[in-house]
Amino acid sequence: MVRIVIPFSLGKKTRSFSGSFNYRRDWTYYQVLEFMTKRLINVIIFLFVFVTILQGNTYHFEMIRHQNFLIKYEITNENLALQVVGLLEQNSNKMEKFYDIDVNTPVSVVIVESLEDFDSYARSSLPTWTGAAYLSSQNIILLKNPTWSNPEINFQREFLHELSHLYFHKKFEGKDIPLWYNEGLAEYLSVGSIDLHSGLVLSNAIWAKSILPFDRIDSLLFFSKQKAELAYAQSLSAILFLYERLGNRENWNYFHQMILEKGWEPAFRENVKMDLIDFEVTWYHYIDDKYRWLFILNAENLIWVALLLVLIAGMYLVRYRNKKILKKWEYEEQIHGFDNPDYSNFESGYKE
Ligand SMILES: [Zn+2]
Repeated sequence: MVRIVIPFSLGKKTRSFSGSFNYRRDWTYYQVLEFMTKRLINVIIFLFVFVTILQGNTYHFEMIRHQNFLIKYEITNENLALQVVGLLEQNSNKMEKFYDIDVNTPVSVVIVESLEDFDSYARSSLPTWTGAAYLSSQNIILLKNPTWSNPEINFQREFLHELSHLYFHKKFEGKDIPLWYNEGLAEYLSVGSIDLHSGLVLSNAIWAKSILPFDRIDSLLFFSKQKAELAYAQSLSAILFLYERLGNRENWNYFHQMILEKGWEPAFRENVKMDLIDFEVTWYHYIDDKYRWLFILNAENLIWVALLLVLIAGMYLVRYRNKKILKKWEYEEQIHGFDNPDYSNFESGYKE
């Protein structure tokens, strides 16, 4: 007989449980085997579930090569990789022409499947609003898969934006050029023009007096999503304004060549015919003329405009109705008035 005493504490009290069994008699080999088999089955089930979960998070990457670009993608996202190939076919020559440069060095394009992988490739935590990134030190373009990051992300636009950064880096490597120019060109070569949304962003910022000085755009990676949107819109509008000043594409190429030879500021002064401060002031007047009144298209302003239109329409209707009544009275006066011989009869009839 074995006496087992299991002490356990419950508050300050100590209770004891006592029981007795004969090990050899109560636990037969069969029972032990049954117990162990059940345990083993549980362990196997646990391992199976664990491996299944692990497999769910394991990505199988494939690669496609297009000229000097190697596109790495998860096997189920081949459509995205093929989109990248298509975009390269349509745009790499255009970019090479614009920047007047050939890029023959190997470039990796990775369609990333999680935020952790994105940050791990970037070796830093980039703002969550970024849909893509170009890492110049590794010659990699990272693209977030829109299905997990943000379905509203325009995958094509993001890729072309980063592709422009790649060519910009190859062209001006080592040159001190403000970020608004780099971002503005990336927007110019991926979007092309200010869309309604960006126009509204500019308009609202003009009214709120929150237009960013150009040198503040250098801190883009520390901006909130809204502020970054403004920075991108400003950068693109500055490029469009600059293009108007330069006149044509040949002058633009010449300006780029001079940046390489003389540096950013001297090249800017010589080609744009003004210094950077004058350019910023003139640009502000340009966007003020072009986008200030777009703020009316804000949803909340549209409601006020609609109410104003209803008010004006109501006033017009009242005036129209009053005029009609006056005309009716005039008409009745002509028929039943003093000039009308019937009027006296009508009046006398009325008095009776
Ligand atoms: Zn960018």
